[in-house]
Amino acid sequence: MIPRPAQYLLRFDDLCPTVSRTRWQRFLPLIEEFGIHPILAVVPDNMDLELEQSQSDPEFWDRMRAMEAAGATIALHGYRHLCNSKGAGLVPLHRHSEFAGVPEETQREWIRAGLAILRGHGLNPRIWVAPRHGFDRNTLRVLSKEGIGLVSDGFARVPFRRDGLTWIPQQLWAPVEKSNGLWTICVHSNTARGSLVEQLRAFLGGHAGQFTSVDRVLAEFQPAELGPAERLYETFALWRIQASQMKNRMAHKL
Ligand SMILES: [Zn+2]
Repeated sequence: MIPRPAQYLLRFDDLCPTVSRTRWQRFLPLIEEFGIHPILAVVPDNMDLELEQSQSDPEFWDRMRAMEAAGATIALHGYRHLCNSKGAGLVPLHRHSEFAGVPEETQREWIRAGLAILRGHGLNPRIWVAPRHGFDRNTLRVLSKEGIGLVSDGFARVPFRRDGLTWIPQQLWAPVEKSNGLWTICVHSNTARGSLVEQLRAFLGGHAGQFTSVDRVLAEFQPAELGPAERLYETFALWRIQASQMKNRMAHKL
């Protein structure tokens, strides 16, 4: 059943001790003021220079623990966020990724190491967020064996089962008013413009009551394999996103 009115989840990507502190801190008052239970996608052992935006924050892990205790859900966001693989993934939005196409044994090592790092910091990672949407069936098999049964990805309007895991779709990168469905809005705080912060504040002002949490989603939905109509919807949604990516790339080249 597609929920009506629409529900929303908020997800923050690329969190690690060197996340831009000033840029990340723009979002914290919103989370608190509107009582949001976001997904926090944490990179366990960041090696990606693009995510080194501030001096390493000695209080980062404390803050993540406090936010989890307040109702946030911790996601495993890859391992080192180094996107050197050109393998084909299940959600084809980028040419390079960290995981898609990497041998299963290596993926297992990375996922185990990543989970151990997050758990070593007292966090309880429960959901997978792939850097650049890059993952394949081997990734899902390993995650499932390591006890992670949730994926934040895909473009349907409801959570669904696929390849043995529950997928909670992530379809938006800014707030958009929808009449029905469950929508995850993904925010990259390092690169988000001030206008997105304002847009989010305005949206939360009118829709805070429609924001849900991973726990509520799991309690309220009974995810099943998608039927043909929703699979078709998902395919068209993917095409739309790919088309707008292509348009952006062309615009950058001009
Ligand atoms: Zn990322």
